[in-house]
Amino acid sequence: MKKNQFIIVLITTLVSVIFLSTLWEFWLESYIGGVFHEEHEAENLSVKLEYVISITIFVTLSLIFPALAGFKLIDNEEQLQEKIKRLSEEDYLTKLYNRRKIHEIIEAEIKRSRRYNSDFAVLLLDIDNFKNINDTHGHNSGDKVLVKLSNILRHNIRESDLASRWGGEEFLVICPETTADGAISLAEKIRHNIEKSTFEEAGTVTASIGVAGIQQGDNVNSLISRADQALYSSKHAGKNRVTMS
Ligand code: GH3
Ligand code: MG
Ligand code: MG
Repeated sequence: MKKNQFIIVLITTLVSVIFLSTLWEFWLESYIGGVFHEEHEAENLSVKLEYVISITIFVTLSLIFPALAGFKLIDNEEQLQEKIKRLSEEDYLTKLYNRRKIHEIIEAEIKRSRRYNSDFAVLLLDIDNFKNINDTHGHNSGDKVLVKLSNILRHNIRESDLASRWGGEEFLVICPETTADGAISLAEKIRHNIEKSTFEEAGTVTASIGVAGIQQGDNVNSLISRADQALYSSKHAGKNRVTMS
């Protein structure tokens, strides 16, 4: 149940109590009393009002604790739902969006770009010789490289861009409203910042990037596949570089 719905339940309860007690005091009580006792005397107005007001105050007070408990339960439930949603969308290690979530976002962005005829580009990044890092320094050091590289991505993209972990040591950045040239500059900036950073145990780390801009008739697979081919070219040309599809 949502908070608004719960508030409606509380208000409805209170309104029903006021309505029923008024109904009882101003009509039913004298009617039913009259049926059983012929000499039944109707109470005067102030007694009737006093009765309705005291019932209202009594019920309001008795609703306070259940209401507080209800709000607490609803808050806990909302936090739990939020956590489940976040866990289903983010990568456990880097806390970036995971592949499933970014796939959904790219689908939506492609539709938006088609509707408004706007630019849209993606960057596919793969860490160079990552297996060597794992083999030389251990899997934990490899994990630390992934986390640090994720932070470099976070700090180098615009607020409207989104970074995600595409899988293993591959990351995908999506850049709405960005031309191919803009995406190449961003990719160069990211590549340069990775190269000049020092990674605890691993030291220097480099990455290769493939960039693809949206084209007419693109879907998620065709766009990513062009970025992947560009990434492959970066690897093939000697790694630590950016290639446009
Ligand atoms: P290239 O320069 O051609 O990209 O070579 P590479 O060594 O980076 O690529 P390769 O595909 O040979 O190896 C990728 C490695 O990434 C293998 C896999 O064990 C490792 N890896 C994948 N996911 C994780 C992870 O979550 N943590 C760590 N530490 N390693 C991972
Ligand atoms: Mg790879
Ligand atoms: Mg690699």
